[in-house]
Amino acid sequence: MPDRTTVSIAPPAVYSSLASRRTALLTVLGAGTLAFPAARALATTGPRADAGVWPRPAAVPGGVARLSLGPAAARPAARTEAGLALLVLGDPIEWTALVGIPLAANAGDARILVDSAGGAAPRAFTYSVTPKRYAEQRLKVAPGQVDLSPEDEARFDRERAHNATVITAFTELSPQAVLRMQVPTPGRRSGSFGLRRVFNGQSRNPHSGMDIAAATGTPVVAPLPGRVIDVGDYFFNGGTVWLDHGGALLSMYCHLSRVDVKVGDVLRTGERFCAVGATGRVTGPHLHWSVMLNRAMVDPALFIDA
Ligand SMILES: [Zn+2]
Repeated sequence: MPDRTTVSIAPPAVYSSLASRRTALLTVLGAGTLAFPAARALATTGPRADAGVWPRPAAVPGGVARLSLGPAAARPAARTEAGLALLVLGDPIEWTALVGIPLAANAGDARILVDSAGGAAPRAFTYSVTPKRYAEQRLKVAPGQVDLSPEDEARFDRERAHNATVITAFTELSPQAVLRMQVPTPGRRSGSFGLRRVFNGQSRNPHSGMDIAAATGTPVVAPLPGRVIDVGDYFFNGGTVWLDHGGALLSMYCHLSRVDVKVGDVLRTGERFCAVGATGRVTGPHLHWSVMLNRAMVDPALFIDA
């Protein structure tokens, strides 16, 4: 009698042949010393890359573009035209750059630069940003609620300068990393990423994250492995934690009622580190969750299962 368990977990024939072809190509490219088995490489690149491993591509403002850089023996160094290091994943058969597109980006052609070996001129890879019109919310409030007092203005300026330093974090990430995230807290998720807010006719920054409705005290867990790079209590964001997931991928959690970690702590996926609250400028308890890639706030919904 055949072993049913073995039968059910055996990869389909197409993947078996692809795996052996990939192994052969890796050997040809001189990558035989790479410390991962071919089956692992297969799981994170090529036809299976869309199957819950990488963020879903969306070349729109606030989205993530996915650009194939082709084969190379070593992981290429890619950057934006402004010089920001980009996340490059894959293996010597095919490297892929994942590019966070700022909400303020213009529609049209954009490009990234990839360093060439031997000091030759960098290669440019072009992609097209499709326009996306996010919803607009117009609010009328008492004038005093829009303009900050001089003290609050000064505090906010200090916090903005501190934040600009926090987001420069960059640590290396394995080219085989899984980037599909666990939802950090249960609750109703708003689709308000990118919402353009206008208070008394004055435009404010668009909403740059996802709000998840949950009661104060609800645990928040790390969506991916990460290192704590900032903990603070800020004017607008209240109790806040930033995590560095490597490769210029960061995430931020705001309005927290409690924080159980300190800078430098390392978290596993699913590990509790803080709790939902209503601190900072909010109307009720919820988690504000932002995801940042190469310093662009991108839609967290692209990183979780639909
Ligand atoms: Zn929010």
